[in-house]
Amino acid sequence: MDFSLSEEQSMIQETTRRMVERDINPILAAHPSDRSLPREPLGEIYRLLAAQGITAPRLSEADGGTGMKMLDYGLIYEQLPAWLAVSIMAHEVTISRIHAEATPEQRQRILPKMFAGEWIGGTATSEPGAGSDPRGLTTRMRVEGDTAIVNGAKVWISNGSVADCLAVTCIDGTDEKGRNTLKRIVIQRSESPFTVREIPVTGLRQGHLSEAVFEDCRVPAANILSSGGDAARMLTITWNGNRPLVGLAAARLAERAFEKAVDYAGIREQFGKPIAGHQLIQQKLADIETAIETSRLLCYRALDMIDRGERVNAAAAMAKRHATTACLEAISKAIGVHGGIGITDEAGLEQLWRDCRMLAVPDATDEILTLIQGREITGIAAFR
Ligand SMILES: Cc1cc2nc3c(=O)[nH]c(=O)nc-3n(C[C@H](O)[C@H](O)[C@H](O)COP(=O)(O)OP(=O)(O)OC[C@H]3O[C@@H](n4cnc5c(N)ncnc54)[C@H](O)[C@@H]3O)c2cc1C
Repeated sequence: MDFSLSEEQSMIQETTRRMVERDINPILAAHPSDRSLPREPLGEIYRLLAAQGITAPRLSEADGGTGMKMLDYGLIYEQLPAWLAVSIMAHEVTISRIHAEATPEQRQRILPKMFAGEWIGGTATSEPGAGSDPRGLTTRMRVEGDTAIVNGAKVWISNGSVADCLAVTCIDGTDEKGRNTLKRIVIQRSESPFTVREIPVTGLRQGHLSEAVFEDCRVPAANILSSGGDAARMLTITWNGNRPLVGLAAARLAERAFEKAVDYAGIREQFGKPIAGHQLIQQKLADIETAIETSRLLCYRALDMIDRGERVNAAAAMAKRHATTACLEAISKAIGVHGGIGITDEAGLEQLWRDCRMLAVPDATDEILTLIQGREITGIAAFR
């Protein structure tokens, strides 16, 4: 067991940190921090990320990706601004899902522009009436000749309003037991227009969380993904990878809050000495640091287990739930260290808190993650 980063891993982390400071932050600074970044600068950032191999880290080089170890991807991922991390994950995981479900012809036609960051993508599954339980989905697709006609509404779609293409989960029929069967179809916005609307949200506000409405949306039937019976397995594999990544984004937000809290505790004086010298402030700092360390360790471990080909359902669920919960509490403590200043916009801590709060929802809520872990412990599913 080795808990230190290799020289190569430290270098990966440092290179990403420098890229964010030198190339990404100046683009972001030119736009309001509480409004969705326009498509053009986002495209510029995507092309930078493509050059770093982050648009398809989970696909092998033979398949057009960079074949990165998940742990190395995690080290890069945690250096990105949290909203951008959520955005690029939505894009690259859509690539992995399309790749798994597409024919060679579909891969060739759809994926190269996504690899290059020229097209931005996302996966649209959640609906107003169906979130944690996909059995409630109602978006339908029917095929007439060589055209698929899609009707339905999707919500909370990462990248939705800026996406050039969405992989949309639809009901396409029923099985022998009368249950709905699901298929995904890739809808390219320029050839099959649909309506999008940005949903105003608590945090991650430079990102895009959107509603997408399909009304008799006509899509070439050639864009229906065959799924090959592997769609459900692919969803689980990608969710298991996403969860520790989201946890690492939370850890990075808490780390930024921690740095501010340590600095402030050193300069703010009350009762004749820096507040850092008061025991209860030291306890807060110790608690925050512990939350960051435990979150990182659990997330790194889950990613390493994926790299080793181990079953990771429980470890990934545990890592995300712990990280998003502990880091939210940690940021709240950092706000406490700052007293009144802590709750001002100026200190930037409330934004870290709002961003972190968002991360508890995607790729399974705390409750669903608890039930996944519980099922792994007991062998009994308690979802319904
Ligand atoms: C930042 C962000 C990005 C997202 N990106 C995407 C995306 O790209 N594509 C996409 O399709 N969706 C996306 N989502 C949507 C997300 O996947 C859903 O919000 C999530 O699955 C929860 O669904 P819901 O909001 O409908 O809540 P519901 O499923 O309605 O749940 C409501 C509450 O009930 C709880 N609950 C549900 N079932 C149980 C149970 N069995 N036992 C106990 N408690 C239960 C939940 O934990 C939650 O607290 C995103 C969401 C966010 C916040």
